[in-house]
Amino acid sequence: MKIKAIALGATCLLTLAACGDGSHAHWGYSGSTGPDKWGKIAPSYKICGTGRNQSPIDITTGIRAALEPITFNYEAGTTAILNNGHTIQVNYEAGNSIVLNGHEYELKQFHFHAPSENHIDGKSYPLEAHFVHADKDGHLAVVGVMLAESGSNAVIGKLWEHMPANAGDKNELPWKIDGELLLPNDRSYYRFNGSLTTPPCSEGVTWLVMKTPVAISSAQLEAFTTVMGEDNNRPLQAINARPILM
Ligand SMILES: [Zn+2]
Repeated sequence: MKIKAIALGATCLLTLAACGDGSHAHWGYSGSTGPDKWGKIAPSYKICGTGRNQSPIDITTGIRAALEPITFNYEAGTTAILNNGHTIQVNYEAGNSIVLNGHEYELKQFHFHAPSENHIDGKSYPLEAHFVHADKDGHLAVVGVMLAESGSNAVIGKLWEHMPANAGDKNELPWKIDGELLLPNDRSYYRFNGSLTTPPCSEGVTWLVMKTPVAISSAQLEAFTTVMGEDNNRPLQAINARPILM
């Protein structure tokens, strides 16, 4: 039970959600605490079941909108890698940010889901990285990057050397990695509104999903899925009336 308590504490960091709301209800990816039950686990998770702007989605027909490029002010700033029982997360020190239409969001952490949560044109990818950013008022912007089995990934290789095998464990990183090295060279992206993909599933999240995947090897993918022990992707949610800009 001790490990579970630590894992839930880390979930608060993962989602950047308010953790003092009295709800620390355990959730998971299968069985009685699986995604189809999240909305009923705790009052603060209700929107997981009732929201109309939930993530992830299948990114299909987009509206051509001449999106402004995202400015990535990333530099080497990783501090630690942790296993919170739901994902493997890499934390960042202050000083990394993106600028989207003149608005700055600071990078807090990135983490992974296998298989991917968002789909692109009906296609699922073996892994998806989420770079979680928050502006000064707490509004979130998540950059999603798909990883496909097309070769070894040097950054992933370096990170996985320190990947904690057990939920609740955290390893300090002996070096700092530039998150930009995990981004595709082509930074064209899809933009849409969505939510956290984990409880409490809060909406109002700006999603920015890169169109181009980056490489990961089969062995690197297997190292991740072995540590997680189960798929850690929320199923696709209804798009409803949301436009997808591209
Ligand atoms: Zn995520």
